[in-house]
Amino acid sequence: MLSPSSSRRQFLHSAVATSSAALVGTTLSTPLNAAPLERKRVLRIAHFTDVHVQPERGASEGMAACLRHISALQDKPDVLFNGGDAIFDGLEQNEQRTQLQWDIFFDTLKRETKLPVRHCIGNHDVWGWLQDKSGAKGNEARYGKKWAVEAYGLPNRYYSFAQAGWHFIVLDSTQSRGNIGYEARLDSEQYEWLRGELASVKPTTPVLVMSHIPILSMTSAFFLRKQEHNSDWTIQRNLMHADGLQIQQLFRKFPNVKVCISGHTHLVDRLDYTGVTYFCDGAVSGAWWKGAWQDCEPGYALVNLYDDGTFEREYVVYGWKPKE
Ligand SMILES: [Zn+2]
Repeated sequence: MLSPSSSRRQFLHSAVATSSAALVGTTLSTPLNAAPLERKRVLRIAHFTDVHVQPERGASEGMAACLRHISALQDKPDVLFNGGDAIFDGLEQNEQRTQLQWDIFFDTLKRETKLPVRHCIGNHDVWGWLQDKSGAKGNEARYGKKWAVEAYGLPNRYYSFAQAGWHFIVLDSTQSRGNIGYEARLDSEQYEWLRGELASVKPTTPVLVMSHIPILSMTSAFFLRKQEHNSDWTIQRNLMHADGLQIQQLFRKFPNVKVCISGHTHLVDRLDYTGVTYFCDGAVSGAWWKGAWQDCEPGYALVNLYDDGTFEREYVVYGWKPKE
């Protein structure tokens, strides 16, 4: 026997079901929720970004704690995506210090996970560009991005692959501004490659794009928590892709581009714009191993991909407390 309240709930439920059935009968050929009920999960990604390992602040223990947290998940990921900035910094550091950081990163990775890993180059993975500080001359064999390409074992600084019925594009966001730093954009060679790549993928194959720096994100405006005197928000070109709208316009021509993931700002947001979802996925290191950065605790994201081109993202805090 149903209680009055549950029979009322049941009534409301049937009333809703009836009215949506009526709607289906008159205006839609398939129920709105048909696809999600029938979809099949094809890949679960742990997106692990901005680890920033260094010998100090217990960073290697923190990285290990994060990888153990991922390994202990009941619903295990199939693959790890390293979103870049694996090391604390290579831009300003000498060769020896850069080597030490890469050694910590790969030793910890090898020891703590058996998952396959896909890597993306972050700005801090680039060696020596700030030559006054790094002491690099620019003619070294591993100068610039060559070291990261070699260490990560990449076919190129940007690349693509197919897996589980999806197509994956990994971009290189970081372009040099000489001795004053970098900006986020695609160089023309890479932009042309991206255009050709999208044109070559079957329109029915969903696409995920990984970049280190967000293509579009509000976290890029909030990173410095700084507004102009007149209260305008400004977004610096080293915090979000300066060519973000050009890339977004390109994506509009390819409706199978579904989701973009990034890191860099150590903050989490989701931006849905013209058919693409842009996830910014926080940082394993939080505030560079000093705890939370603004509203974001150290963590990583889990991204589920489905055979119908849909997806979900969850940000997971793994409980790291900073060392003194
Ligand atoms: Zn970065």
